[in-house]
Amino acid sequence: MQLPYAEPYKIKMVESLTKSSYGQRYQWIKDAKYNLINLKSSQIFLDLLTDSGTGAMSDKQWAEMMTGDESYAGSRSYFQLKDVAKQIFGIPYFIPVHQGRAAEHVLFSTLLKAGDIVPGNMHFVTTKEHITLNNATAIDCTINSACDITNQNIFKGNIDLEKLESLFKSNDNIPLVILTITCNSIGGLPVSMQNIQETSSLCKKYHCPLYFDAARFAENAYFIKKYEKGFEKKTICEIVKEMFSHVEGFMLSGKKNGIVNMGGLIGLRSETIFKNASVNTVRYEGYITYGGLSGRDLSALAQGLLESTEYDYLESRVEQVAYLGNRLKQYHIPLLEPFGGHAIFINAGEFYHHIPQTEYRGQFLNSNIYLEGGIRGVGIDGLSNNRDPDTGKEVYPPMELVRLALPTRVYTNSHMDYIAATVANVFEKRHESKRGLKLVKDTKLLRSFMAELEPTDQNT
Ligand SMILES: *Cc1c(COP(=O)(O)O)cnc(C)c1O
Repeated sequence: MQLPYAEPYKIKMVESLTKSSYGQRYQWIKDAKYNLINLKSSQIFLDLLTDSGTGAMSDKQWAEMMTGDESYAGSRSYFQLKDVAKQIFGIPYFIPVHQGRAAEHVLFSTLLKAGDIVPGNMHFVTTKEHITLNNATAIDCTINSACDITNQNIFKGNIDLEKLESLFKSNDNIPLVILTITCNSIGGLPVSMQNIQETSSLCKKYHCPLYFDAARFAENAYFIKKYEKGFEKKTICEIVKEMFSHVEGFMLSGKKNGIVNMGGLIGLRSETIFKNASVNTVRYEGYITYGGLSGRDLSALAQGLLESTEYDYLESRVEQVAYLGNRLKQYHIPLLEPFGGHAIFINAGEFYHHIPQTEYRGQFLNSNIYLEGGIRGVGIDGLSNNRDPDTGKEVYPPMELVRLALPTRVYTNSHMDYIAATVANVFEKRHESKRGLKLVKDTKLLRSFMAELEPTDQNT
């Protein structure tokens, strides 16, 4: 018999979780205006809002927290992180920053000018925002099959090379191309090595540097090893090296595959860009040997990067996501497939197909999962976008979803069973809900954070 995956770690310290009653949660969600971002963490049993900065550090990382060097300049922790980054990525220059969007802030203010175009497979929201803040335009060259739910290709994160080339042909103001690995906005699905290599060749043909948004680089490498021909026998470290050999630089949020609660990195091959970016780092983040972080954070990130490139860890990480997906499938919950590296996405539009799209089916399903079992995910629906500036109409995403993101090394498989059973109970009762949610208070920006809602039919 083939043995199942098992976590390559054991529990040394535990943190208590509070269970609550349906009645308590009913009151709390009303107080939170049916917007789960307003809940207190003490009102939540299992928090699947995000895996960003919510992972569990190892004993070795906590040991680094004690021995980190807090010198303002030239800290030992900085050199430790630099050595690890060089060893893993094979890229000579790097700058620590306090998180992923800080890397975007520093790098884009160094590389972009007004009117520029920045293509990518599908930019993350903060990336898009920082491109726009520099008066440049972010353009997604997503492959058409990425949003086709019947397509089972795992490498849906791939960039469409024809779309990219036609941009190159019609524009001479493209200062960089960004591949997001894994592609967060497409469900955490990977980019293949072949696509990375071909994108790199195309970029070279047009003398344009290629960068990674590398928040989940290790999960991407795991998918390449598992699914791409010719990589089965390579180690994760070899695959990561090869991936990064194709790029000029990268931005990385350490809160994902760095397994730290706070931290980020910029990696660069060009000494000139490194020097220019250093100036912006001092402006926005702090001196270049700490970049807005404590010395102990730098050391913990160095250790986290080493751990996240270990095969056994990555297997348990990615396969736990699949475990949850398969449990939900057993209850016939409509899901996005294939499963990505950090989250499961429930198709809320299909789940509640009998409720109008105008009634925020993503937020509604998320609310009902919370009421049923004290679990918090994220609803993705009309509320996730700003309204059309011209018509004032809602802009709907291609699919309405609930994302259940799994924090790294935090929850056990009995938690996964509990989550699946909770969603199954909501699914069984889905026809009892005839209506969804309506807005009580709307805002112009960051609607999903600020909006207040209530059930359309108060009797449900
Ligand atoms: C999280 C994330 C970011 C932003 O990083 P923060 O640390 O949250 O600022 C950028 N890109 C991708 C792909 C991410 O997943």
